[in-house]
Amino acid sequence: MGGWVSRAPAAWIAVKLVLIGAYLLGTNRLLVERVAHIGLQPGLVVFAAVWLLCIVTMLVLAFHARTPARVVWSAIFFLGSTFTLAHALIVSRHLGFIEFEQLLGLIGFAHNLKGFHDAQILQAVAWSALGVIAINLPPWLAPPDSPSLLRWPQRNPGLLQLLPVVAIGAILYLRGGEGSNGFPGQYTTAAFAGVLGAEKVLAPAAPQREDIALAHLGQRPFRHIVLVMDESVRGDYVDLNVEDGVETGLRPLGSALANFGIAASTANCSATSNASVRYGVTRDSYLKDLQLNPSFWRYAGRAGYRTVYIDAQRHDGKLQNFMDPREVAEIDEFVQVGTAFGPDAKDIEAGRLLNRVLLRDRPSFTYVNKMGCHFPYEGKYPTANTLYSPTMSRAFVSKETDDGTGYRQAENAEQRWRQVNSYRNCLAWNTRGFFREALANVDLSDTLIVYTADHGQNFHEDGSPGEQTHCTIGQASPGEGRIPLATITRNAEYLPLLREAARRNQDRGSAFNVYPTLLTLMGYGPPGSGDNFEADLLGALPQDNTRFLSTYFVRFGREPVWNSIGRDTQLRDGLQQALAEERRTAKVDASAASGAP
Ligand SMILES: [Zn+2]
Repeated sequence: MGGWVSRAPAAWIAVKLVLIGAYLLGTNRLLVERVAHIGLQPGLVVFAAVWLLCIVTMLVLAFHARTPARVVWSAIFFLGSTFTLAHALIVSRHLGFIEFEQLLGLIGFAHNLKGFHDAQILQAVAWSALGVIAINLPPWLAPPDSPSLLRWPQRNPGLLQLLPVVAIGAILYLRGGEGSNGFPGQYTTAAFAGVLGAEKVLAPAAPQREDIALAHLGQRPFRHIVLVMDESVRGDYVDLNVEDGVETGLRPLGSALANFGIAASTANCSATSNASVRYGVTRDSYLKDLQLNPSFWRYAGRAGYRTVYIDAQRHDGKLQNFMDPREVAEIDEFVQVGTAFGPDAKDIEAGRLLNRVLLRDRPSFTYVNKMGCHFPYEGKYPTANTLYSPTMSRAFVSKETDDGTGYRQAENAEQRWRQVNSYRNCLAWNTRGFFREALANVDLSDTLIVYTADHGQNFHEDGSPGEQTHCTIGQASPGEGRIPLATITRNAEYLPLLREAARRNQDRGSAFNVYPTLLTLMGYGPPGSGDNFEADLLGALPQDNTRFLSTYFVRFGREPVWNSIGRDTQLRDGLQQALAEERRTAKVDASAASGAP
Protein backbone atom coordinates (compact mmCIF):
# COMPACT_ATOMS: atom_id res chain seq x y z
CA MET A 1 0.00 0.00 0.00
CA GLY A 2 3.05 2.18 -0.53
CA GLY A 3 1.35 5.09 -2.27
CA TRP A 4 -1.68 5.28 0.02
CA VAL A 5 -1.83 8.43 2.04
CA SER A 6 -2.39 7.65 5.65
CA ARG A 7 -2.14 9.26 9.01
CA ALA A 8 -3.25 6.05 10.77
CA PRO A 9 -0.69 4.40 12.96
CA ALA A 10 0.76 1.31 11.33
CA ALA A 11 -0.34 -0.66 14.39
CA TRP A 12 -4.02 -0.08 13.60
CA ILE A 13 -3.53 -1.13 10.02
CA ALA A 14 -1.86 -4.29 11.29
CA VAL A 15 -4.73 -5.02 13.70
CA LYS A 16 -7.27 -4.64 10.90
CA LEU A 17 -5.24 -6.89 8.59
CA VAL A 18 -4.95 -9.55 11.27
CA LEU A 19 -8.71 -9.46 11.93
CA ILE A 20 -9.52 -9.79 8.23
CA GLY A 21 -7.07 -12.67 7.94
CA ALA A 22 -8.61 -14.39 10.95
CA TYR A 23 -12.08 -13.85 9.47
CA LEU A 24 -11.13 -15.41 6.13
CA LEU A 25 -9.35 -18.38 7.69
CA GLY A 26 -11.93 -18.89 10.44
CA THR A 27 -14.87 -18.98 8.05
CA ASN A 28 -13.25 -21.08 5.33
CA ARG A 29 -12.33 -24.16 7.35
CA LEU A 30 -12.17 -26.58 4.47
CA LEU A 31 -9.52 -24.54 2.63
CA VAL A 32 -6.52 -26.63 3.62
CA GLU A 33 -8.30 -29.85 2.77
CA ARG A 34 -9.29 -28.40 -0.61
CA VAL A 35 -5.74 -27.35 -1.42
CA ALA A 36 -4.49 -30.82 -0.50
CA HIS A 37 -7.21 -32.33 -2.66
CA ILE A 38 -6.24 -30.26 -5.72
CA GLY A 39 -2.57 -31.07 -5.23
CA LEU A 40 0.38 -29.65 -7.12
CA GLN A 41 -1.09 -29.18 -10.58
CA PRO A 42 -2.04 -26.28 -12.87
CA GLY A 43 -5.56 -26.12 -11.34
CA LEU A 44 -3.93 -24.91 -8.13
CA VAL A 45 -2.77 -21.75 -9.94
CA VAL A 46 -6.34 -20.92 -10.97
CA PHE A 47 -7.49 -21.68 -7.42
CA ALA A 48 -4.83 -19.41 -5.92
CA ALA A 49 -5.60 -16.66 -8.46
CA VAL A 50 -9.29 -16.61 -7.47
CA TRP A 51 -8.32 -16.46 -3.80
CA LEU A 52 -5.86 -13.63 -4.47
CA LEU A 53 -8.53 -11.71 -6.37
CA CYS A 54 -10.95 -12.15 -3.48
CA ILE A 55 -8.39 -11.02 -0.91
CA VAL A 56 -7.33 -7.94 -2.88
CA THR A 57 -10.90 -6.80 -3.60
CA MET A 58 -11.91 -7.37 0.01
CA LEU A 59 -8.90 -5.33 1.24
CA VAL A 60 -9.71 -2.45 -1.13
CA LEU A 61 -13.22 -2.43 0.32
CA ALA A 62 -12.12 -2.73 3.94
CA PHE A 63 -9.65 0.16 3.75
CA HIS A 64 -11.92 2.38 1.67
CA ALA A 65 -13.53 5.43 3.24
CA ARG A 66 -16.85 4.89 1.47
CA THR A 67 -19.12 3.67 4.27
CA PRO A 68 -22.22 2.54 2.27
CA ALA A 69 -20.13 0.15 0.14
CA ARG A 70 -18.47 -1.31 3.23
CA VAL A 71 -21.75 -1.73 5.11
CA VAL A 72 -23.60 -3.36 2.21
CA TRP A 73 -20.83 -5.73 1.27
CA SER A 74 -19.90 -6.67 4.81
CA ALA A 75 -23.57 -7.64 5.28
CA ILE A 76 -23.43 -9.78 2.12
CA PHE A 77 -20.18 -11.36 3.36
CA PHE A 78 -21.79 -11.95 6.76
CA LEU A 79 -24.68 -13.91 5.23
CA GLY A 80 -22.38 -15.81 2.88
CA SER A 81 -19.83 -16.86 5.47
CA THR A 82 -22.50 -17.74 8.05
CA PHE A 83 -24.14 -20.00 5.49
CA THR A 84 -20.95 -21.72 4.36
CA LEU A 85 -19.35 -22.07 7.77
CA ALA A 86 -22.50 -23.43 9.44
CA HIS A 87 -22.83 -25.88 6.56
CA ALA A 88 -19.18 -26.94 6.84
CA LEU A 89 -19.44 -27.39 10.61
CA ILE A 90 -22.64 -29.43 10.38
CA VAL A 91 -21.95 -31.72 7.45
CA SER A 92 -18.15 -31.37 7.00
CA ARG A 93 -18.58 -30.78 3.28
CA HIS A 94 -18.22 -27.86 0.89
CA LEU A 95 -21.44 -26.02 0.16
CA GLY A 96 -22.01 -26.65 -3.55
CA PHE A 97 -24.26 -24.82 -5.96
CA ILE A 98 -26.98 -27.48 -6.09
CA GLU A 99 -26.88 -27.84 -2.32
CA PHE A 100 -27.25 -24.07 -1.97
CA GLU A 101 -30.30 -24.08 -4.24
CA GLN A 102 -31.85 -26.92 -2.26
CA LEU A 103 -31.21 -25.14 1.05
CA LEU A 104 -32.96 -22.04 -0.29
CA GLY A 105 -35.99 -24.23 -0.99
CA LEU A 106 -35.92 -25.38 2.63
CA ILE A 107 -35.56 -21.94 4.15
CA GLY A 108 -39.11 -22.09 5.53
CA PHE A 109 -37.86 -24.84 7.80
CA ALA A 110 -34.80 -23.01 9.07
CA HIS A 111 -36.34 -22.91 12.53
CA ASN A 112 -35.98 -26.70 12.62
CA LEU A 113 -32.21 -26.27 12.51
CA LYS A 114 -32.43 -24.00 15.48
CA GLY A 115 -32.14 -26.20 18.49
CA PHE A 116 -30.67 -29.01 16.42
CA HIS A 117 -27.45 -27.31 15.34
CA ASP A 118 -27.31 -24.38 17.74
CA ALA A 119 -23.64 -24.67 18.57
CA GLN A 120 -22.53 -24.78 14.94
CA ILE A 121 -24.77 -21.91 13.85
CA LEU A 122 -23.69 -19.73 16.77
CA GLN A 123 -20.07 -20.37 15.94
CA ALA A 124 -20.70 -19.45 12.30
CA VAL A 125 -22.49 -16.25 13.31
CA ALA A 126 -19.67 -15.28 15.69
CA TRP A 127 -16.93 -15.76 13.10
CA SER A 128 -18.95 -13.90 10.50
CA ALA A 129 -19.64 -11.01 12.87
CA LEU A 130 -15.87 -10.70 13.24
CA GLY A 131 -15.79 -9.96 9.49
CA VAL A 132 -18.34 -7.16 9.78
CA ILE A 133 -16.26 -5.59 12.54
CA ALA A 134 -12.95 -6.05 10.76
CA ILE A 135 -14.15 -4.55 7.48
CA ASN A 136 -15.87 -1.56 9.08
CA LEU A 137 -13.14 -0.83 11.60
CA PRO A 138 -10.98 2.26 11.01
CA PRO A 139 -8.46 3.12 9.68
CA TRP A 140 -9.62 3.94 6.18
CA LEU A 141 -7.05 5.16 3.81
CA ALA A 142 -7.33 7.82 1.16
CA PRO A 143 -6.50 6.42 -2.29
CA PRO A 144 -3.07 7.29 -3.69
CA ASP A 145 -2.61 9.27 -6.84
CA SER A 146 -2.67 6.24 -9.14
CA PRO A 147 -2.32 5.71 -12.87
CA SER A 148 -5.71 5.89 -14.58
CA LEU A 149 -5.97 2.11 -14.91
CA LEU A 150 -6.24 1.70 -11.12
CA ARG A 151 -8.40 4.76 -10.58
CA TRP A 152 -11.68 3.05 -11.47
CA PRO A 153 -11.43 0.20 -8.92
CA GLN A 154 -10.29 2.65 -6.28
CA ARG A 155 -13.30 4.86 -6.86
CA ASN A 156 -15.80 1.99 -7.04
CA PRO A 157 -15.00 -0.38 -4.16
CA GLY A 158 -18.57 -1.76 -4.20
CA LEU A 159 -18.65 -2.61 -7.89
CA LEU A 160 -15.15 -4.04 -7.61
CA GLN A 161 -16.56 -6.82 -5.39
CA LEU A 162 -18.48 -8.11 -8.38
CA LEU A 163 -15.21 -9.12 -10.05
CA PRO A 164 -14.60 -12.28 -7.96
CA VAL A 165 -18.34 -12.97 -7.93
CA VAL A 166 -18.42 -13.01 -11.73
CA ALA A 167 -15.20 -15.05 -11.90
CA ILE A 168 -16.65 -17.75 -9.63
CA GLY A 169 -19.98 -17.59 -11.49
CA ALA A 170 -18.15 -18.19 -14.77
CA ILE A 171 -16.34 -21.20 -13.30
CA LEU A 172 -19.68 -22.59 -12.09
CA TYR A 173 -21.15 -22.22 -15.53
CA LEU A 174 -18.17 -23.78 -17.31
CA ARG A 175 -17.96 -26.70 -14.85
CA GLY A 176 -21.66 -27.64 -14.89
CA GLY A 177 -22.47 -26.12 -11.51
CA GLU A 178 -19.27 -27.43 -9.87
CA GLY A 179 -15.78 -26.10 -9.29
CA SER A 180 -16.49 -23.63 -6.51
CA ASN A 181 -15.31 -25.83 -3.63
CA GLY A 182 -12.82 -24.12 -1.37
CA PHE A 183 -13.26 -20.57 -2.69
CA PRO A 184 -14.07 -17.94 -0.04
CA GLY A 185 -17.64 -18.53 1.07
CA GLN A 186 -18.08 -14.76 1.22
CA TYR A 187 -17.95 -14.55 -2.58
CA THR A 188 -19.08 -18.08 -3.47
CA THR A 189 -22.57 -17.71 -2.04
CA ALA A 190 -22.94 -14.35 -3.80
CA ALA A 191 -21.96 -16.11 -7.04
CA PHE A 192 -24.52 -18.88 -6.36
CA ALA A 193 -27.23 -16.29 -5.80
CA GLY A 194 -26.12 -14.41 -8.92
CA VAL A 195 -26.23 -17.49 -11.16
CA LEU A 196 -29.64 -18.49 -9.78
CA GLY A 197 -30.96 -14.96 -10.27
CA ALA A 198 -29.59 -14.80 -13.83
CA GLU A 199 -31.21 -18.14 -14.60
CA LYS A 200 -34.54 -16.87 -13.29
CA VAL A 201 -34.33 -13.73 -15.39
CA LEU A 202 -33.10 -15.46 -18.55
CA ALA A 203 -35.33 -18.55 -18.30
CA PRO A 204 -38.28 -18.64 -20.65
CA ALA A 205 -41.63 -18.07 -18.95
CA ALA A 206 -43.03 -21.22 -17.33
CA PRO A 207 -44.96 -23.08 -20.00
CA GLN A 208 -48.66 -23.71 -19.66
CA ARG A 209 -49.40 -26.98 -17.85
CA GLU A 210 -50.97 -29.71 -19.95
CA ASP A 211 -54.59 -30.70 -19.55
CA ILE A 212 -55.42 -34.05 -17.97
CA ALA A 213 -54.60 -36.89 -20.30
CA LEU A 214 -56.94 -39.68 -19.24
CA ALA A 215 -60.63 -40.29 -19.82
CA HIS A 216 -62.83 -40.90 -16.81
CA LEU A 217 -64.81 -44.13 -17.07
CA GLY A 218 -67.90 -42.61 -15.47
CA GLN A 219 -67.89 -44.46 -12.14
CA ARG A 220 -66.13 -43.49 -8.93
CA PRO A 221 -65.04 -46.71 -7.19
CA PHE A 222 -64.70 -44.86 -3.86
CA ARG A 223 -66.58 -42.04 -2.22
CA HIS A 224 -63.46 -40.85 -0.42
CA ILE A 225 -59.84 -41.16 -1.49
CA VAL A 226 -57.00 -40.02 0.77
CA LEU A 227 -53.27 -39.80 0.30
CA VAL A 228 -51.56 -39.59 3.68
CA MET A 229 -48.02 -38.31 3.12
CA ASP A 230 -46.18 -38.81 6.36
CA GLU A 231 -43.01 -36.87 7.12
CA SER A 232 -39.62 -38.61 7.43
CA VAL A 233 -41.09 -42.05 8.19
CA ARG A 234 -38.64 -44.78 7.43
CA GLY A 235 -40.24 -47.92 6.00
CA ASP A 236 -37.99 -50.41 7.75
CA TYR A 237 -38.60 -48.91 11.21
CA VAL A 238 -42.37 -49.49 11.40
CA ASP A 239 -44.35 -52.53 12.54
CA LEU A 240 -45.88 -52.92 9.07
CA ASN A 241 -42.55 -54.18 7.84
CA VAL A 242 -40.31 -55.43 10.66
CA GLU A 243 -40.43 -57.30 13.93
CA ASP A 244 -39.79 -54.88 16.81
CA GLY A 245 -40.94 -52.09 14.49
CA VAL A 246 -42.70 -49.03 15.84
CA GLU A 247 -46.43 -49.52 16.32
CA THR A 248 -48.26 -47.42 13.75
CA GLY A 249 -51.75 -48.41 14.83
CA LEU A 250 -52.34 -49.84 11.36
CA ARG A 251 -51.78 -53.53 12.02
CA PRO A 252 -55.05 -53.98 13.94
CA LEU A 253 -56.83 -53.10 10.68
CA GLY A 254 -55.94 -56.63 9.62
CA SER A 255 -57.47 -57.60 6.30
CA ALA A 256 -58.35 -54.00 5.42
CA LEU A 257 -54.65 -53.42 4.93
CA ALA A 258 -52.77 -54.06 1.70
CA ASN A 259 -49.12 -53.61 2.63
CA PHE A 260 -46.69 -53.16 -0.25
CA GLY A 261 -43.75 -53.52 2.13
CA ILE A 262 -40.73 -51.26 2.07
CA ALA A 263 -40.99 -48.90 -0.88
CA ALA A 264 -38.78 -46.21 -2.39
CA SER A 265 -39.46 -42.50 -2.23
CA THR A 266 -39.13 -40.43 -5.40
CA ALA A 267 -36.49 -38.21 -3.81
CA ASN A 268 -34.81 -37.82 -0.41
CA CYS A 269 -36.00 -34.31 0.42
CA SER A 270 -39.51 -33.09 1.31
CA ALA A 271 -40.02 -30.47 -1.37
CA THR A 272 -38.88 -32.53 -4.35
CA SER A 273 -40.52 -35.76 -3.17
CA ASN A 274 -43.90 -34.18 -2.38
CA ALA A 275 -44.02 -32.20 -5.61
CA SER A 276 -42.97 -35.28 -7.62
CA VAL A 277 -45.98 -37.16 -6.27
CA ARG A 278 -48.48 -34.31 -6.69
CA TYR A 279 -47.50 -33.88 -10.33
CA GLY A 280 -46.99 -37.54 -11.17
CA VAL A 281 -43.53 -37.14 -12.62
CA THR A 282 -41.92 -40.05 -14.44
CA ARG A 283 -38.35 -41.18 -13.98
CA ASP A 284 -37.34 -40.46 -17.57
CA SER A 285 -38.48 -36.85 -17.74
CA TYR A 286 -39.16 -35.76 -14.17
CA LEU A 287 -37.89 -32.18 -14.49
CA LYS A 288 -40.05 -31.52 -17.54
CA ASP A 289 -43.03 -33.35 -15.98
CA LEU A 290 -42.78 -31.22 -12.86
CA GLN A 291 -43.32 -28.17 -15.07
CA LEU A 292 -45.94 -29.56 -17.43
CA ASN A 293 -48.03 -32.30 -15.80
CA PRO A 294 -51.42 -31.45 -14.33
CA SER A 295 -51.58 -31.96 -10.55
CA PHE A 296 -53.55 -34.83 -9.04
CA TRP A 297 -55.97 -32.14 -7.81
CA ARG A 298 -57.04 -31.50 -11.40
CA TYR A 299 -57.74 -35.19 -12.01
CA ALA A 300 -59.67 -35.40 -8.75
CA GLY A 301 -61.70 -32.31 -9.53
CA ARG A 302 -62.55 -33.51 -13.04
CA ALA A 303 -63.70 -36.84 -11.59
CA GLY A 304 -66.14 -35.03 -9.33
CA TYR A 305 -64.23 -35.17 -6.05
CA ARG A 306 -64.07 -32.21 -3.73
CA THR A 307 -60.35 -31.55 -3.23
CA VAL A 308 -59.08 -31.09 0.32
CA TYR A 309 -55.55 -30.33 1.50
CA ILE A 310 -54.73 -30.82 5.19
CA ASP A 311 -51.34 -29.41 6.11
CA ALA A 312 -50.13 -30.18 9.63
CA GLN A 313 -46.71 -28.57 9.11
CA ARG A 314 -47.15 -24.95 8.16
CA HIS A 315 -49.55 -22.20 9.13
CA ASP A 316 -51.02 -18.84 8.14
CA GLY A 317 -51.29 -19.82 4.50
CA LYS A 318 -47.54 -20.28 4.09
CA LEU A 319 -46.89 -22.72 1.26
CA GLN A 320 -44.31 -25.46 1.09
CA ASN A 321 -42.98 -28.19 -1.17
CA PHE A 322 -43.15 -26.02 -4.31
CA MET A 323 -46.89 -25.45 -3.96
CA ASP A 324 -47.79 -22.09 -5.54
CA PRO A 325 -50.92 -19.92 -5.57
CA ARG A 326 -51.95 -21.42 -8.91
CA GLU A 327 -51.97 -24.89 -7.35
CA VAL A 328 -53.81 -23.62 -4.28
CA ALA A 329 -56.54 -22.38 -6.67
CA GLU A 330 -57.07 -26.03 -7.68
CA ILE A 331 -57.87 -27.00 -4.07
CA ASP A 332 -61.43 -26.59 -2.80
CA GLU A 333 -60.56 -26.72 0.91
CA PHE A 334 -57.13 -25.60 2.03
CA VAL A 335 -56.74 -26.41 5.72
CA GLN A 336 -53.71 -25.84 7.95
CA VAL A 337 -53.65 -27.16 11.50
CA GLY A 338 -52.12 -23.94 12.76
CA THR A 339 -50.22 -22.73 15.76
CA ALA A 340 -52.97 -23.37 18.30
CA PHE A 341 -51.64 -26.94 18.43
CA GLY A 342 -48.20 -27.88 19.67
CA PRO A 343 -45.95 -30.18 17.60
CA ASP A 344 -47.17 -33.16 19.66
CA ALA A 345 -50.83 -32.36 18.93
CA LYS A 346 -50.77 -31.46 15.25
CA ASP A 347 -51.10 -34.94 13.78
CA ILE A 348 -53.96 -35.75 16.15
CA GLU A 349 -55.75 -32.60 15.02
CA ALA A 350 -54.98 -33.43 11.37
CA GLY A 351 -56.57 -36.85 12.00
CA ARG A 352 -59.68 -35.16 13.40
CA LEU A 353 -59.91 -32.82 10.42
CA LEU A 354 -59.60 -35.76 8.03
CA ASN A 355 -62.21 -37.69 9.98
CA ARG A 356 -64.72 -34.89 9.48
CA VAL A 357 -64.17 -35.03 5.72
CA LEU A 358 -64.54 -38.82 5.66
CA LEU A 359 -67.86 -38.70 7.53
CA ARG A 360 -69.42 -36.48 4.86
CA ASP A 361 -71.53 -37.82 2.02
CA ARG A 362 -69.87 -35.61 -0.52
CA PRO A 363 -67.11 -37.40 -2.50
CA SER A 364 -63.66 -36.07 -1.67
CA PHE A 365 -60.00 -36.44 -2.49
CA THR A 366 -57.78 -35.44 0.44
CA TYR A 367 -54.02 -35.04 0.56
CA VAL A 368 -52.51 -34.86 4.04
CA ASN A 369 -49.03 -33.55 4.86
CA LYS A 370 -48.61 -35.03 8.33
CA MET A 371 -46.39 -33.46 10.95
CA GLY A 372 -44.63 -36.82 11.22
CA CYS A 373 -41.08 -36.94 12.51
CA HIS A 374 -38.84 -34.39 10.92
CA PHE A 375 -35.97 -33.53 13.27
CA PRO A 376 -35.93 -32.44 16.02
CA TYR A 377 -37.92 -35.46 17.18
CA GLU A 378 -38.20 -34.37 20.78
CA GLY A 379 -41.23 -32.23 21.54
CA LYS A 380 -43.30 -34.07 18.93
CA TYR A 381 -44.65 -36.51 21.54
CA PRO A 382 -45.58 -36.01 25.20
CA THR A 383 -42.94 -37.01 27.76
CA ALA A 384 -45.46 -39.31 29.42
CA ASN A 385 -45.54 -41.32 26.19
CA THR A 386 -41.87 -42.21 26.11
CA LEU A 387 -41.85 -45.83 24.97
CA TYR A 388 -38.17 -46.05 24.18
CA SER A 389 -35.43 -44.59 26.31
CA PRO A 390 -32.96 -43.06 26.86
CA THR A 391 -33.87 -40.30 24.44
CA MET A 392 -32.16 -37.16 23.23
CA SER A 393 -32.24 -34.13 25.51
CA ARG A 394 -35.77 -32.93 26.15
CA ALA A 395 -34.71 -29.29 26.33
CA PHE A 396 -36.87 -28.79 23.27
CA VAL A 397 -40.56 -28.77 24.15
CA SER A 398 -43.97 -27.48 23.13
CA LYS A 399 -43.16 -24.82 20.54
CA GLU A 400 -41.53 -25.46 17.20
CA THR A 401 -39.50 -22.29 17.55
CA ASP A 402 -38.21 -23.01 21.04
CA ASP A 403 -34.55 -22.55 21.52
CA GLY A 404 -33.58 -26.10 22.45
CA THR A 405 -30.18 -25.56 23.93
CA GLY A 406 -28.17 -28.71 24.20
CA TYR A 407 -29.71 -30.21 21.10
CA ARG A 408 -27.20 -32.05 19.01
CA GLN A 409 -27.31 -34.44 16.11
CA ALA A 410 -25.92 -37.89 16.76
CA GLU A 411 -22.15 -37.89 16.68
CA ASN A 412 -21.36 -41.23 18.30
CA ALA A 413 -22.96 -44.58 19.06
CA GLU A 414 -24.70 -43.49 22.22
CA GLN A 415 -26.15 -40.39 20.60
CA ARG A 416 -27.30 -42.41 17.59
CA TRP A 417 -29.07 -44.79 19.95
CA ARG A 418 -30.78 -41.87 21.74
CA GLN A 419 -31.72 -40.32 18.41
CA VAL A 420 -33.31 -43.57 17.22
CA ASN A 421 -35.29 -43.79 20.48
CA SER A 422 -36.55 -40.23 20.21
CA TYR A 423 -37.49 -40.90 16.60
CA ARG A 424 -39.37 -44.10 17.48
CA ASN A 425 -41.28 -42.34 20.28
CA CYS A 426 -42.29 -39.62 17.85
CA LEU A 427 -43.31 -42.12 15.17
CA ALA A 428 -45.42 -44.18 17.54
CA TRP A 429 -47.22 -41.15 18.94
CA ASN A 430 -47.90 -39.38 15.67
CA THR A 431 -48.99 -42.34 13.54
CA ARG A 432 -51.19 -43.98 16.19
CA GLY A 433 -52.81 -40.71 17.24
CA PHE A 434 -53.45 -39.67 13.66
CA PHE A 435 -55.06 -42.90 12.50
CA ARG A 436 -57.05 -43.36 15.70
CA GLU A 437 -58.76 -40.01 15.10
CA ALA A 438 -58.94 -40.24 11.31
CA LEU A 439 -60.59 -43.66 11.16
CA ALA A 440 -63.12 -43.30 13.99
CA ASN A 441 -66.56 -44.43 12.73
CA VAL A 442 -65.41 -44.29 9.10
CA ASP A 443 -67.06 -46.70 6.68
CA LEU A 444 -64.03 -48.21 4.97
CA SER A 445 -66.15 -49.99 2.34
CA ASP A 446 -66.44 -46.67 0.54
CA THR A 447 -63.09 -45.15 1.47
CA LEU A 448 -59.54 -45.69 0.27
CA ILE A 449 -56.48 -44.43 2.12
CA VAL A 450 -53.00 -44.63 0.66
CA TYR A 451 -50.34 -44.32 3.37
CA THR A 452 -46.75 -43.44 2.58
CA ALA A 453 -44.02 -40.94 3.50
CA ASP A 454 -42.00 -38.32 1.66
CA HIS A 455 -38.63 -39.94 2.42
CA GLY A 456 -36.80 -42.02 5.04
CA GLN A 457 -33.97 -41.12 7.42
CA ASN A 458 -30.32 -41.99 7.68
CA PHE A 459 -29.40 -42.86 11.26
CA HIS A 460 -25.85 -43.87 10.33
CA GLU A 461 -26.57 -47.27 11.90
CA ASP A 462 -23.47 -48.61 10.20
CA GLY A 463 -21.35 -46.03 12.01
CA SER A 464 -20.83 -44.00 8.82
CA PRO A 465 -19.64 -40.45 9.49
CA GLY A 466 -21.70 -37.27 9.16
CA GLU A 467 -24.88 -36.14 10.84
CA GLN A 468 -27.21 -35.58 7.90
CA THR A 469 -30.48 -37.54 8.14
CA HIS A 470 -31.89 -36.81 4.65
CA CYS A 471 -31.70 -34.40 1.69
CA THR A 472 -28.16 -35.60 0.93
CA ILE A 473 -26.85 -34.33 -2.40
CA GLY A 474 -24.85 -36.88 -4.35
CA GLN A 475 -24.82 -40.57 -3.41
CA ALA A 476 -27.31 -41.06 -0.55
CA SER A 477 -27.69 -43.77 2.08
CA PRO A 478 -30.41 -46.38 1.30
CA GLY A 479 -32.26 -45.39 4.50
CA GLU A 480 -33.05 -41.96 3.08
CA GLY A 481 -35.24 -43.56 0.42
CA ARG A 482 -36.99 -46.29 2.44
CA ILE A 483 -40.64 -45.48 3.05
CA PRO A 484 -43.79 -47.39 4.03
CA LEU A 485 -46.46 -47.96 1.37
CA ALA A 486 -49.85 -49.44 2.23
CA THR A 487 -53.50 -48.99 1.38
CA ILE A 488 -56.48 -49.17 3.72
CA THR A 489 -59.98 -50.05 2.51
CA ARG A 490 -62.74 -52.60 2.97
CA ASN A 491 -64.12 -52.07 -0.51
CA ALA A 492 -65.42 -55.45 -1.69
CA GLU A 493 -64.26 -55.00 -5.27
CA TYR A 494 -60.87 -53.40 -4.75
CA LEU A 495 -59.60 -54.89 -1.48
CA PRO A 496 -58.82 -58.32 -3.01
CA LEU A 497 -57.15 -56.63 -6.00
CA LEU A 498 -55.03 -54.43 -3.76
CA ARG A 499 -54.02 -57.29 -1.46
CA GLU A 500 -53.06 -59.43 -4.42
CA ALA A 501 -51.10 -56.51 -5.91
CA ALA A 502 -49.36 -55.94 -2.57
CA ARG A 503 -48.26 -59.59 -2.49
CA ARG A 504 -47.06 -59.47 -6.08
CA ASN A 505 -45.24 -56.15 -5.65
CA GLN A 506 -43.91 -56.69 -2.13
CA ASP A 507 -40.89 -54.40 -1.58
CA ARG A 508 -41.08 -53.27 -5.19
CA GLY A 509 -43.32 -50.25 -4.81
CA SER A 510 -42.22 -46.68 -5.32
CA ALA A 511 -43.79 -43.29 -4.71
CA PHE A 512 -43.48 -42.85 -8.49
CA ASN A 513 -46.37 -45.36 -8.72
CA VAL A 514 -48.68 -43.46 -6.38
CA TYR A 515 -50.06 -40.83 -8.78
CA PRO A 516 -51.13 -43.26 -11.51
CA THR A 517 -52.60 -45.55 -8.81
CA LEU A 518 -54.68 -42.70 -7.42
CA LEU A 519 -55.97 -41.88 -10.92
CA THR A 520 -56.99 -45.50 -11.53
CA LEU A 521 -58.79 -45.58 -8.18
CA MET A 522 -60.54 -42.28 -8.99
CA GLY A 523 -62.08 -44.11 -11.95
CA TYR A 524 -59.81 -43.06 -14.81
CA GLY A 525 -59.12 -45.44 -17.67
CA PRO A 526 -55.63 -46.71 -18.45
CA PRO A 527 -53.21 -44.42 -20.29
CA GLY A 528 -52.76 -44.80 -24.04
CA SER A 529 -49.46 -45.87 -25.57
CA GLY A 530 -48.23 -42.32 -26.09
CA ASP A 531 -49.19 -41.09 -22.61
CA ASN A 532 -46.49 -40.29 -20.12
CA PHE A 533 -47.19 -42.24 -16.89
CA GLU A 534 -45.40 -44.55 -14.51
CA ALA A 535 -47.03 -47.93 -13.87
CA ASP A 536 -49.73 -48.11 -11.22
CA LEU A 537 -49.40 -50.38 -8.19
CA LEU A 538 -52.15 -52.73 -9.34
CA GLY A 539 -50.06 -54.14 -12.18
CA ALA A 540 -46.79 -56.07 -11.95
CA LEU A 541 -43.84 -53.87 -11.07
CA PRO A 542 -40.31 -54.65 -12.24
CA GLN A 543 -37.66 -55.59 -9.69
CA ASP A 544 -35.54 -52.49 -10.26
CA ASN A 545 -38.43 -50.17 -9.42
CA THR A 546 -37.01 -48.90 -6.13
CA ARG A 547 -34.47 -46.24 -7.01
CA PHE A 548 -34.76 -42.75 -5.58
CA LEU A 549 -33.28 -39.41 -6.58
CA SER A 550 -30.86 -37.44 -4.45
CA THR A 551 -29.30 -34.88 -6.80
CA TYR A 552 -32.59 -33.73 -8.31
CA PHE A 553 -32.22 -30.32 -9.93
CA VAL A 554 -29.53 -30.73 -12.54
CA ARG A 555 -28.48 -28.19 -15.11
CA PHE A 556 -25.69 -27.32 -17.50
CA GLY A 557 -25.74 -30.95 -18.72
CA ARG A 558 -25.22 -32.66 -15.36
CA GLU A 559 -26.73 -36.09 -14.65
CA PRO A 560 -29.15 -36.70 -11.76
CA VAL A 561 -28.05 -39.13 -9.02
CA TRP A 562 -30.17 -42.24 -8.44
CA ASN A 563 -29.79 -44.39 -5.33
CA SER A 564 -30.77 -47.88 -4.25
CA ILE A 565 -32.87 -48.51 -1.12
CA GLY A 566 -30.72 -51.61 -0.56
CA ARG A 567 -30.73 -55.25 -1.63
CA ASP A 568 -33.54 -57.64 -0.61
CA THR A 569 -31.42 -59.33 2.02
CA GLN A 570 -30.40 -56.11 3.78
CA LEU A 571 -33.64 -54.21 3.31
CA ARG A 572 -34.82 -54.92 6.84
CA ASP A 573 -31.52 -54.76 8.71
CA GLY A 574 -31.62 -51.07 9.62
CA LEU A 575 -33.53 -51.21 12.88
CA GLN A 576 -31.68 -54.38 13.92
CA GLN A 577 -28.38 -52.61 13.38
CA ALA A 578 -29.54 -49.70 15.50
CA LEU A 579 -30.74 -52.09 18.22
CA ALA A 580 -27.44 -53.98 18.15
CA GLU A 581 -25.71 -50.68 18.70
CA GLU A 582 -28.10 -50.05 21.58
CA ARG A 583 -27.19 -53.39 23.16
CA ARG A 584 -23.49 -52.74 22.73
CA THR A 585 -23.79 -49.33 24.34
CA ALA A 586 -25.97 -50.74 27.13
CA LYS A 587 -23.35 -53.38 27.82
CA VAL A 588 -20.68 -50.72 28.12
CA ASP A 589 -22.95 -48.77 30.49
CA ALA A 590 -23.68 -51.85 32.59
CA SER A 591 -20.06 -52.89 32.92
CA ALA A 592 -19.10 -49.34 33.83
CA ALA A 593 -21.84 -49.32 36.47
CA SER A 594 -20.85 -52.69 37.94
CA GLY A 595 -17.23 -51.60 38.06
CA ALA A 596 -18.19 -48.70 40.27
CA PRO A 597 -17.75 -49.16 44.04
ZN1 LIG B 1 -39.55 -34.46 4.58
